Amino acid sequence: MTSPRYVVLVGPPASGKGTQAVRLHEALGLTHVASGDLFRENIRNETALGMQAKSYMDRGDLVPDDVTIAMVLDRLSHPDCAAGALLDGFPRTLAQAQALDAALGAQGHAIGAVPYVAVPDEVLIERVSGRRLCRTCGASYHVTFNPPHTPGVCDVDGGELYQRDDDRPETVRTRLKVYHDLTSPLIDYYHEKGVLIQIDGDQPIDRVTEDLLEALRSVKEG
Ligand code: ADP
Ligand code: ADP
Repeated sequence: MTSPRYVVLVGPPASGKGTQAVRLHEALGLTHVASGDLFRENIRNETALGMQAKSYMDRGDLVPDDVTIAMVLDRLSHPDCAAGALLDGFPRTLAQAQALDAALGAQGHAIGAVPYVAVPDEVLIERVSGRRLCRTCGASYHVTFNPPHTPGVCDVDGGELYQRDDDRPETVRTRLKVYHDLTSPLIDYYHEKGVLIQIDGDQPIDRVTEDLLEALRSVKEG
């Protein structure tokens, strides 16, 4: 059985993309490329890119397309993405989607599947408020829905768990508006290309994983 090599996870903030990407990586072996994680890594390392991105992220706005596209395409050029990648959080605008299509097309590749993880806004607010991340590996937990074995400590590497600055309620409202205005048009874009797969993200984590794997395994290699 084959599955697509380039997969894009689309969904609103806190719909579970990162949580599912870790599980899909384990099941399918695709490298997980998360634009938000790349930005946070740059901020932690105090790079010029990180400094540039931080003010946008703190407000809940998108980082400009040119900066974001360059960062993600650079990441995709690393050898661990040669066999494919699982993109999480990118693309988030039509310009980013077109740039990704062009870059993959130039190498004879195409996006094989775009699972759209659908979750209602009111559920997202609840998820965001309880989200905790590992400071070292970025693993995502929820204080109620997906708690770590020991409160405040990452199961994977023992790192300290923290709450993202941009997970505050006022910033989340901006992020949801940005998602509806700029990112949700991607749903039509990928639907027209025949690669969109709608997944009910408002289910227990294991159930969402099962639905994603079943959907991806029925898609031919891309
Ligand atoms: P995204 O990467 O889309 O922003 P995350 O994977 O970080 O989302 O998940 C957001 C929050 O919701 C986290 O606290 C996570 O533990 C929790 N979560 C993820 N999927 C589910 C689910 N199916 N049910 C309940 N909580 C979930
Ligand atoms: P979430 O887990 O809530 O979906 P991410 O971790 O993916 O959030 O992104 C956090 C922030 O990083 C976004 O609010 C935005 O400021 C910035 N960001 C991440 N990916 C992109 C992108 N593809 N384009 C522009 N900005 C992005």
